[in-house]
Amino acid sequence: MKPASFTRHVPRTVDEVVNALAEYAPQDGRILAGGQSLVPIMAFRMARPAHLIDINEVEGLDRLAVDGEYLSIGACVRHGAFHKPVIDGPLGTLLAYVSRHIAHYPIRMRGTFCGSLAHADPSSEWCLVSATLGAELLVKSVRGERIVPIDEFLEGIMTTALQEDEFLAEARLPLLPADTKFGFYEFSRRAGDFAMSAALVTYRLVDGKIIDAHVGIGGAEDHARRIAEAEDTLNGQAPSPRLFVAAGEAAALAVDPMEDIQTTADYRRDLVRAVTRRALEHAQQ
Ligand code: FAD
Repeated sequence: MKPASFTRHVPRTVDEVVNALAEYAPQDGRILAGGQSLVPIMAFRMARPAHLIDINEVEGLDRLAVDGEYLSIGACVRHGAFHKPVIDGPLGTLLAYVSRHIAHYPIRMRGTFCGSLAHADPSSEWCLVSATLGAELLVKSVRGERIVPIDEFLEGIMTTALQEDEFLAEARLPLLPADTKFGFYEFSRRAGDFAMSAALVTYRLVDGKIIDAHVGIGGAEDHARRIAEAEDTLNGQAPSPRLFVAAGEAAALAVDPMEDIQTTADYRRDLVRAVTRRALEHAQQ
C-alpha cells in the first residue's frame, strides 16, 4: 500500500526542527527519523500525517559521545551504531549485545535510538535499556528545553510525555561502573520479531553479595519499567540458581501483563518469570 500524500520538510538545524514542529504539529505534522515504524504505519494508512519533518539532514544529531557521567545519544543515532561497543566498559558491551536483538539488519541501519523511545512500543529494546538504566531525555521545542526522566517519559503503549510540538533531541544513559555485570534475555516467536517479554538486569558484587540490582522488564506491560520487588529479592544476597528463581517469581507476581492477540496475560506472566531468571543466568556467565 502507499501512504496518503504529505509534504516533506527538511530542516538543517535544531531551531528549524522546533520551528517546523510548532507550525506543522497542529496540522498533523510529525518528525520523520529512521522511518522504520512511521513509514509502515503510513503505508497501512493507520497514520496520515499531512507534514513530515525529516530530521536526517540536521547537522550534529548523529552525535554519540560521553559527556561527564553520561553517554549522549543524538536523535539520528541508528540502532546499528551500537553493533560494536561505542565505549569501553560494560555499557558499551551491553548496548552492543542488546542492539543485535532489534528487528533485522536493514531496519537497524535506519531506525534510531531516540525514534524507538518516541515511538514507545512496549517491546522496544531501547525503551527497556533506558528504563532499566535510568535514562534522561533532552526534549526541545520553541518554548525551550527540558530534561525528562525515562520513568516519566514512558506513559503507556506508544504514549509518551512528549507534547505535540516537542522534539526528543538526545537520550542520556548513565555510564556503568567497570565491575557492573549485565544480563539480557528476550522471548519472541521468530528472530527479529518484537519480544513478547524481555528482561535486562545489571548488578555489582561486593564480598560475593549483589548490590545495586536493576531489573527491567519490557514487552509484558504497557511500557518497560524497573521491578523493585525483584531488585529487593536480589540485593544483599549471593547469586545462586535458587535466588534467580526467586527473583523471577517476584517479577512475575509484580507485573500486570497485557493480554492481546498474541497471547494471554497468564502466559506473559510465565514469560516474565523465565526471562528474568535467564537474564540473571546470563549476567553470571
Ligand atoms: P520513525 O519511524 O521515523 O518514527 C517513529 C515515531 O516516533 C513517529 O511518530 C515519529 O514522529 C516519532 N519520532 C521519531 N524520532 C523522534 C524524535 N527524535 N522526537 C520526537 N518524535 C520522534 N523495534 C524494536 O525496538 N524492536 C524490534 O524487535 C523491532 N522489530 C521491528 C520489525 C520490523 C519488521 C519493523 C518494520 C520495525 C521493527 N522495530 C523494532 C521498529 C524499529 O526499531 C524502529 O526503528 C523504531 O521503533 C522507530 O525508530 P525510527 O527512527 O525508525 O522512527
